[in-house]
Amino acid sequence: MPGRDVEVVVVGGGAAGVAAARRLCEAGVDCLIVEARGRLGGRAWTITDKSGFALDLGCGWLHSADRNPWVTIAQEQGAAIDKSRPPWARAMRDIGFPHAEQKEFQEAMDAFVARVERAAAGDSDVPAGDSLEPGCRWNGLIDAISTYISGAEWHRVSAKDYDRYHDTGVNWRVVKGYGALISACGEDFPAALDCEVRAIDHRGKRLRIETAKGAIAADQVIVTIPSALLAAERLLFAPALPEKIEAARGLPLGLADKLFIALAGAEEFEPDTRVFGHIDRAATANYHFRPFGRPMIEAYFGGRFAAKLEQGGDAAFFDAAVSDLVGLFGAAFAGRIKPIAIHRWGADPFALGSYSYASPGFADCRPKLVEPVDGRLFFAGEACSIHDFSTAHGGWHTGVSAAEQVIAQRRAQSQTPA
Ligand SMILES: Cc1cc2nc3c(=O)[nH]c(=O)nc-3n(C[C@H](O)[C@H](O)[C@H](O)COP(=O)(O)OP(=O)(O)OC[C@H]3O[C@@H](n4cnc5c(N)ncnc54)[C@H](O)[C@@H]3O)c2cc1C
Repeated sequence: MPGRDVEVVVVGGGAAGVAAARRLCEAGVDCLIVEARGRLGGRAWTITDKSGFALDLGCGWLHSADRNPWVTIAQEQGAAIDKSRPPWARAMRDIGFPHAEQKEFQEAMDAFVARVERAAAGDSDVPAGDSLEPGCRWNGLIDAISTYISGAEWHRVSAKDYDRYHDTGVNWRVVKGYGALISACGEDFPAALDCEVRAIDHRGKRLRIETAKGAIAADQVIVTIPSALLAAERLLFAPALPEKIEAARGLPLGLADKLFIALAGAEEFEPDTRVFGHIDRAATANYHFRPFGRPMIEAYFGGRFAAKLEQGGDAAFFDAAVSDLVGLFGAAFAGRIKPIAIHRWGADPFALGSYSYASPGFADCRPKLVEPVDGRLFFAGEACSIHDFSTAHGGWHTGVSAAEQVIAQRRAQSQTPA
């Protein structure tokens, strides 16, 4: 593949790259996805466990499902969609968290979110954590929720950016896996896998895309790699693009890691319910029992807690889960659970984290990141989305939008007299 000459190169074959390639191919543009990994999907990644269950190590929920374009793709693929309510929209068991306290916590959480919304309407872009009520006993757990939503504690998150996220509150799942859905969608388009892009030289009349397998010439490029990689300058531009690096640095990737655990005697638990490991701190996992009714637990770790566990390797996550679950259900529970799979997204060289948030003061970095350069370099990926960032459907929308701009540019050029 490299050594080729194409009209448009799409760097990265995740949700945004696949969506861009689909739109370009529909319009008859000669394009090539160039992907560093040996698979498509990026942070959307489904594996199959020994029992044949599809496990999403990255995205799993079709958030805002009533307007999520991946739902249409799932229908095109004939993929079954599960519309049962997510665990966070159901009553929790009262183990370690009596119902009266759950109500008190929910009221504190709702009041906090209302204060963040008011703070976001102000002139300055303050940390969402400024809206925590001093001395509130629920601050730790409220912070834990941020580590699941943003992969970072509230004081690291811009109130304005958080407030710009649009959520319809409808959440569905694809039974065969969100990752499997996205990678299958990409299979129809030309792609070079195991082909890391190292540099984009935009000095000449045509672009020169330097990859691990040689150079590719192109008219235009759509760059969809995660903001953390742009910020770390893992992909170089010649001439350099300091304004892009700066925008990407305002949009770090938060950290969230999932651990799947096999559970013996699972029928004792209601499907799709959850518990927190602890209710008095930010450093706590939440445990989703029997996802899709399966005999397993999906444990979710976020923020600084996940970052610390990543340093201890995969085993550190299971040890933390055993300690929490034994604390909740008694010592015998340790004999009922076994680790199935985990992926440490912070250590993943082609992600360096899970999903983007904006640092306080940097909410306007998203429109800066997506701004095209010279009508030839286009940017997409979840971090470029103003209202759907951090999600696979946000990735889709930015990929399609970049492709539309490329198509419009090509049409305009073809109509310009030489
Ligand atoms: C644990 C976890 C849970 C999540 N849960 C949800 C959820 O429930 N719902 C939801 O909507 N979202 C969720 N997300 C977020 C979602 O997965 C991402 O927002 C989305 O997949 C990002 O798509 P993208 O195309 O922007 O980026 P990516 O998927 O990261 O795609 C970028 C691609 O670029 C490639 N790449 C990187 N560097 C190079 C290079 N130099 N050369 C070539 N290729 C390169 C990468 O390998 C990758 O394939 C979750 C993520 C994680 C990690």
